[in-house]
Amino acid sequence: MSNIQLKKEVARFAKLVWDRKLTDGAGGNMSIKDEDRIYITPTSTIKHFLTEDDIITIDKDGNKIEGKKEPSSERRMHIKIYEKAPEVKAIIHAHPRYATSFAVTFQKLPVYALPESALVLDPITYIEYQMPGTQEFADAFAKGLEEGSRVFVLQNHGITVAGKDMEDAYMKLETLEFLAEVSFISKLYGDLNEIPIEKITAFKEFFNKNKRGD
Ligand SMILES: [Zn+2]
Repeated sequence: MSNIQLKKEVARFAKLVWDRKLTDGAGGNMSIKDEDRIYITPTSTIKHFLTEDDIITIDKDGNKIEGKKEPSSERRMHIKIYEKAPEVKAIIHAHPRYATSFAVTFQKLPVYALPESALVLDPITYIEYQMPGTQEFADAFAKGLEEGSRVFVLQNHGITVAGKDMEDAYMKLETLEFLAEVSFISKLYGDLNEIPIEKITAFKEFFNKNKRGD
């Protein structure tokens, strides 16, 4: 993809996240990495109105290369994730209602409640509150990334997901928010049951085998 196409892709998914009410006000930020460039949303903007002209190009140290506004204040987090997980090419940070409520109460999501969430989200890392935008906040992702986690619940803040492309990251966001919402509703109905771990393991094996086609 050309750099204009990559900027369009960031703007397209930022709008989708906002339109699906998966983030609030000017909250959230999204980026794509391509070689040594990161294309990231600008700070303090309503994502619905973003176009490719608004997307900021930064280098791997966070310096602005091109763009009218300033890059997201969360750029350090994006840089840290790309640094630690080379296969990651797209990141979405957002404040979706139900998952953020889990972040505020800092309860663990029942990731084995649904086969899809077990497959797409597991393992989820829960990060204790850090001041947003700081290096400490960015550094707090390191341990989870090393352990293979690409889904993060951030105490009293929101969530971050990372994927091999924007679609992959977005799928994680939708799956996470769906799990949080269904968990909330399930608790109103009665006890929340999770699928036993051996059945989850069998499902993951079955799915990966089918994907490979053997
Ligand atoms: Zn945030």
